Amino acid sequence: MAMRPGVQEAGPTFRGECRQPRICSASGLGGVHTPTVAWRPVTLYDLDRDALGTLLATEPSFRVDQLWDGLYRQGHPVAELTNLPASLRRQLVTDHPDALSEIQRSVSDGGETVKWLWTLADGAKVESVLMHYPRRTTVCVSTQAGCAMACDFCATGQAGFTRNLTSGEILEQVVRARQSAVPRRVDNIVFMGMGEPMANFDNTWAAVQRLHHDMGLSARSLTISTVGLIPGIRRMTAEDLPVNLAVSLHAADDALRDRLVPINRRYPLGELMDACAEYVEVKRRRLSFEWALIDGVNDRGEDAERLSALCGPLRAHVNLIPLNPTDGFATRGSPPQRVSAFADHLRRLGINATVRANRGTDIDAACGQLSASANGPEIRVDLGSTRPTL
Ligand code: SF4
Repeated sequence: MAMRPGVQEAGPTFRGECRQPRICSASGLGGVHTPTVAWRPVTLYDLDRDALGTLLATEPSFRVDQLWDGLYRQGHPVAELTNLPASLRRQLVTDHPDALSEIQRSVSDGGETVKWLWTLADGAKVESVLMHYPRRTTVCVSTQAGCAMACDFCATGQAGFTRNLTSGEILEQVVRARQSAVPRRVDNIVFMGMGEPMANFDNTWAAVQRLHHDMGLSARSLTISTVGLIPGIRRMTAEDLPVNLAVSLHAADDALRDRLVPINRRYPLGELMDACAEYVEVKRRRLSFEWALIDGVNDRGEDAERLSALCGPLRAHVNLIPLNPTDGFATRGSPPQRVSAFADHLRRLGINATVRANRGTDIDAACGQLSASANGPEIRVDLGSTRPTL
């Protein structure tokens, strides 16, 4: 076996918590993170088929097919691929260990929701969630360890930014969840876990391509969420795969959105709506707006009317998500009657709106909450997450 070096340069990464996460150099926005170059083991999931071929250059050529088939079609860990010689399996496991080590698994909703907290080779922590529904099974993946966007109501935002994930680290979350889902089949992937996917666009898009090309998921079953990074939306528009775009909106006027979602100060609503319109026009994909309902903050009649005015021209669908409850913060998710009233108001205005069930609130199944609790009391979790359960 022609072994490649067991490390890779993953590009500039950032250790420790963000000192000033509201503006972050990690996402190209200018800021004060201290960049370091980190070396991490290359996992098999970081390697595309050609790279696996190089790795196995001294093996019979059919070994690449066996390994590829085992990892992606069958979805087995390499240690269980018994059609490979034991010595080769041992060497692959030693030189290219999995990126994700499970440190916590929580199950709720009668087994229909499973949430993992993983630790990565450098100690960074990320989360993924598997959600079974009657007609589909969804995996929600993280694209960054932490997040620099600093949305005030979000557990991940409160914890700051650590680093971008590699495409293999993103892909492996799907592979591991898929193994756990058997005999059910994972058929829907949402990039809505920890982090802002557009701030790690290259690796996120590489994972999208691998999910589509290597794991056979249709572009329609892939959804990338953003809090509104316009350059990322534009890059998605220029790419070939017509994946779904979900914009975490949460406010339909700049004054409120500046407060809830600080990146709005850089990319205000008018420009954001223009980028969304271009995406819809070019890709012909449905756009959705995610709206975390916060009691008395963005669940008023005037909020519904402003939101409706943004949705109409874009024919956007609205997903309403009451914020997950978390301890220690006064502002709460909207109570059920206000959620219903807000949804009804939107519908009367002709907007398609769906109230999403808050899956896994008893296991902190929202971005950043599990990680925050595992990290101990120094990380203050305010309101929890906006992440929907699609
Ligand atoms: S809501 Fe999303 S973009 Fe905002 S801080 Fe949380 S993970 Fe980051």
